[in-house]
Amino acid sequence: MSDMGTCACPGCEHQVSSEEAALSEGRAYCCTACAAGHPEGMVCKHEGCECTELNRPASGDLPHEQI
Ligand SMILES: [Zn+2]
Ligand SMILES: [Zn+2]
Repeated sequence: MSDMGTCACPGCEHQVSSEEAALSEGRAYCCTACAAGHPEGMVCKHEGCECTELNRPASGDLPHEQI
């Protein structure tokens, strides 16, 4: 099979191979964490990948609900 380009996750520069691609909404991601948008800081399968930090929800900085 072939390369599917770069992971569609913002900040992730890893090449996606067809055998390990995680598809979401027609785009190819390097792993399921990226495909899911890193919910609750779920880490990219590539250790130290910048996308994990970039997509981590800012803790302690959540907006208060406006009334
Ligand atoms: Zn990544
Ligand atoms: Zn990612």
